[in-house]
Amino acid sequence: MPGSEWLKNRPRLLEAVYAASKSALRLLHPLLKRVAPAGWRERVFVWSEEVSKGYLFNCQMCGQCILHSTGMTCPMNCPKNLRNGPCGGVRQNGHCEVIPEMPCVWVQAWRRDALMGRYGGEVRVLQPPVNRELQNSSAWLNLLDGVDVERPPGWSTIELEEIESG
Ligand code: SF4
Repeated sequence: MPGSEWLKNRPRLLEAVYAASKSALRLLHPLLKRVAPAGWRERVFVWSEEVSKGYLFNCQMCGQCILHSTGMTCPMNCPKNLRNGPCGGVRQNGHCEVIPEMPCVWVQAWRRDALMGRYGGEVRVLQPPVNRELQNSSAWLNLLDGVDVERPPGWSTIELEEIESG
């Protein structure tokens, strides 16, 4: 899979960079909103994410980055675009059932998650389906604006209690 394998195999380093970037952007965001028009902000962030995350993670620009919850391994590289994995088709050698020459994205995610500190264990958190309306938008801005956790109209949340009570 394209992307920097050397760096991806050092998820502790990557999660530290992620955490520092998140803190810095949270501080800068109010100022950015005041001085930079929304369209300009979106273009600059999209470009920088395409370049940086594209190189590091083969980012597919889903606009809802959950890298820190998936062992710093982009789940959108799974041919089925699973947000929770792996599927039941992983080969005995740990490779993908759809692309046999490729290591299963989710096997890598679980292995790397086990190496992480601050976000280690988040791979167990059940993720909602990806919201395709956010494709090609800036995941950082969506996170800072809270857009990445909004549910599109028509999506409903089934609470666990409802399932348990039948
Ligand atoms: S084997 Fe892994 S990478 Fe391939 S489709 Fe299943 S979960 Fe995705």
